Amino acid sequence: MSERKLKLLHMYPNVLDLYGDSGNVEVLRYRCAQRGITLEVYQHLMNKPDNTDFSDMDIIYLGGGADYEQQLLADDLMSCKDRIFKAYENKVFLLMICGGYQLLGKYYKDSNGERIPGLGLFSYHTEASTNKRDRCIGNIIVETELVGKKYKVIGFENHGGQTTDVKTPFGKVLHGNGNVRSGETEGYCEERVIATYLHGPLLSKNPQLADYIISKALERQGADSTLAPINDKLEEACRKELLTRLLSK
Ligand code: GLN
Repeated sequence: MSERKLKLLHMYPNVLDLYGDSGNVEVLRYRCAQRGITLEVYQHLMNKPDNTDFSDMDIIYLGGGADYEQQLLADDLMSCKDRIFKAYENKVFLLMICGGYQLLGKYYKDSNGERIPGLGLFSYHTEASTNKRDRCIGNIIVETELVGKKYKVIGFENHGGQTTDVKTPFGKVLHGNGNVRSGETEGYCEERVIATYLHGPLLSKNPQLADYIISKALERQGADSTLAPINDKLEEACRKELLTRLLSK
């Protein structure tokens, strides 16, 4: 069997890294390595122009950030618009958390009332209250579907932004808020797009979600996308504990 290799572009790793969001890259790297797959990680840094062809990547990843950081990087992100659109058309997997999720929509009106233009790749938009205490904070559980199977995604949310006009949400909220306060749905998704408010980092608590991303990325290459099971005893014990604790309330 030929060697399997994936390329991941981590955008703004030093700016969009709330609650250890960069840990998602570590989880992907670890779960790839366990299957003998090499995950090569590239970075796109703010105000450091590069010629990376984003379509040459298999996964593009953006973490979350506070309003201030989102303002800071908005222009740089806009300068990447064409490359991100092209990568999306070329079926590169897009994973975005919170602040990154918001900026791929039409716009984010932040808690100062300032409108940060988004890339408009997706048609949702986000507005935050100018009351800075008005935030959705806490543990959250969302039920999504991964290749026809229901899966409970566990995470932590902390956002002022309320996202509406979401055509295809990531999942149904079982505990917590989601796209809007006391909402019924959370995030946005397509077969090769996951945009979510869940920090945690997301993938450490949800190993099957990490594997879904890895196999979708391999599938696009035409490579063997089967992933041998690995020892997830600790992860599963943690999930069981959290699901019992949070869903029994
Ligand atoms: N600043 C945005 C908000 O408050 C995103 C926050 C985040 O990434 N956690 O809605």
